[in-house]
Amino acid sequence: MTPLDSDRPAQDTAYDAIVIGAGPAGLTAATYLGRFLRKALVLDGGRSRASWIPESHNTPGFPHGVGGEALLDRLRDQADRYGAERRAGRARTLLRGADGFVLAIDQENADAPVIARAPFVLLATGVVDRLPVLEGVEDAIRAARVRLCPICDGYEASGQRIAVLGDGEHGAREAAFLTTYSPAVTLLDLRPDAPMEGEREGDGAFERLPVSLADITLGPDGVMVGDRTFDCLYPALGFDSQQALAQQVDAARDADGRLVVSAHQQTSVDGLYAAGDVVRGLNQIAVATAEAAIAATDIHNRLRALARPG
Ligand SMILES: Cc1cc2nc3c(=O)[nH]c(=O)nc-3n(C[C@H](O)[C@H](O)[C@H](O)COP(=O)(O)OP(=O)(O)OC[C@H]3O[C@@H](n4cnc5c(N)ncnc54)[C@H](O)[C@@H]3O)c2cc1C
Repeated sequence: MTPLDSDRPAQDTAYDAIVIGAGPAGLTAATYLGRFLRKALVLDGGRSRASWIPESHNTPGFPHGVGGEALLDRLRDQADRYGAERRAGRARTLLRGADGFVLAIDQENADAPVIARAPFVLLATGVVDRLPVLEGVEDAIRAARVRLCPICDGYEASGQRIAVLGDGEHGAREAAFLTTYSPAVTLLDLRPDAPMEGEREGDGAFERLPVSLADITLGPDGVMVGDRTFDCLYPALGFDSQQALAQQVDAARDADGRLVVSAHQQTSVDGLYAAGDVVRGLNQIAVATAEAAIAATDIHNRLRALARPG
């Protein structure tokens, strides 16, 4: 008996494709599938990483910047315009059977799980940042005092006193990267026995300061560490890739734990595609939307092939 059999479904609907996740990747795929005249379900499981963005200045087509929520509103509007069925709910269980995928969805106001079926599924479930436990961290992200993506907004921190909070090599790499923008970069190192030297070959110098989280205060005018003040803080504590559904169907991962995908974004499981942050190391909107376009087009072409007689 599987989790899918254990409840009498509140609803059971077949689709051409199911898109799990409604961030930039999922919503872009929804637009493409809608414009290919496909019956697609888009599951919106809650907060997209993009909703944290105070203002993005590297998203193509927005030379004066765009807020994350404003961008998501546009993407939702575009997906809705072409008929994708967008629904709030969390995908709970994914099974691969002889006729395709069966998905159990936890949906508000449904007594039993809702079932959706499709020959193709696109995972666009993203990642969740590991945030430091600091009072006011969410407000500080909205105010761009805590920043989460040096590639996205290192430019905006040019010339500032930048702190990077790390507990390993990842922190050192981010600090080195940020010396592109400022000569005043300090790695706040949570490891008590951290090496003191900060310079890395080929990059500018950065300072290393051993700290504990209790030393750090997020204030309205900056980030205070003892008697030092920084203009912004980049936590470099990593993120958790939202791959639970892929693991339920045994999709292969590489040595770094990333989902393995083909040139058309298909995972090692036939019919299961993945796009956006859940796949790549370069977690960017432009990458998420491009991968979604590639995946949606391949899904459409395979649906065309399935419909051909013989
Ligand atoms: C502070 C900040 C600033 C950033 N600035 C920029 C920038 O300037 N430029 C740039 O290019 N990028 C920026 N990024 C990165 C950008 O937000 C991500 O690359 C982008 O959101 C990835 O899109 P995605 O669709 O892959 O994932 P997400 O946007 O994270 O969307 C994933 C969606 O899947 C849903 N989901 C997960 N699991 C389930 C489930 N089981 N069932 C149903 N739904 C599920 C989630 O709820 C979410 O809605 C920034 C990120 C942060 C945090």
